[in-house]
Amino acid sequence: MDKILIVDDSLLQATRLKEILDEEYSITVALTAEKGLCHARTEDYSLILLDVVMPGMDGFTLLEKLQEEIITRGIPVILITSLSDVQNEYQGLILGAVDYITKPFNPLIVKARVNTHIRLYNYRKQVEKQSKTDQLTGIANRRQYDHYSKLRWLDAVRLKVPFSICMIDIDCFKAYNDTFGHPAGDKVLAAVAKTLSTSLNRNTDFVARYGGEEFVACLLGDTSGKVFEHMKKVRKSIEALCIRHNSPVSEWVTVSIGGVTVIPNEESSYDFYLKTADAMLYDAKNNGRNRVIWADETLKQLCEE
Ligand code: GH3
Ligand code: MG
Ligand code: MG
Repeated sequence: MDKILIVDDSLLQATRLKEILDEEYSITVALTAEKGLCHARTEDYSLILLDVVMPGMDGFTLLEKLQEEIITRGIPVILITSLSDVQNEYQGLILGAVDYITKPFNPLIVKARVNTHIRLYNYRKQVEKQSKTDQLTGIANRRQYDHYSKLRWLDAVRLKVPFSICMIDIDCFKAYNDTFGHPAGDKVLAAVAKTLSTSLNRNTDFVARYGGEEFVACLLGDTSGKVFEHMKKVRKSIEALCIRHNSPVSEWVTVSIGGVTVIPNEESSYDFYLKTADAMLYDAKNNGRNRVIWADETLKQLCEE
């Protein structure tokens, strides 16, 4: 059920609105703008109904504050105004309200407007999510990875903590498709993605499908030795899915993993380390596949036998 926040100093008016919408939505009422702001910051609302005239912080000021903050900026706001307040309506729309409802309420109009804006909001959220997600595997796509990893890289520079980039590529996957068919190959991709995202599930881990049968991950905080050990486990857990294959490497589907850990500073180049991770993957492939090769902070190789 979508959640709606009503911010109105008049309990009578808020209760009337709540009664109109109660059946279809989960309603929270805040009787001051300050309380409304707290709710908006901490809960996941699909819409805010905001009274303009309130003692203390008024509706416009709250609207401005909601627009300033990243977590509340996306929530659509409908203003509640009296019929005589044309100037108010104009100011509200300029400030970023999506619509207005005039007092006294006509329940049918209130419902219709609310339904429309909630539908639009959910549609927009779905489109945003789809643009960040790889359709086949359900994990993040390359675009989202590029965006996210650059932000985390800046965190690592600022905090002077290790940053790891990891490339993961399924071994002999062309042969898999040729033997078992493309739809079966798609299922393998989804299974590998699922295992990767459960093995790399810390708040500071991020994994994405980079393209084709290649995945990419970035991790924050651990030194090369630790990440190398962890990646060996990740590699083994994919082998342990026991998905039948008959490549020269193994009877099961396997992956090769290459990566690098660096404590970046302002002069470090993200692209250089991305290329280094890719070079380690290339070496893992050339050294027999189904293995991890990692470059440590001094670019010395750690190789899984
Ligand atoms: P290597 O061990 O060197 O990585 O060999 P490989 O065969 O995995 O690598 P190659 O780059 O030669 O082939 C990649 C294959 O991945 C070919 C392509 O058909 C397959 N592939 C890429 N994307 C998809 C996909 O979305 N679904 C399926 N089923 N296969 C895909
Ligand atoms: Mg491959
Ligand atoms: Mg490949």
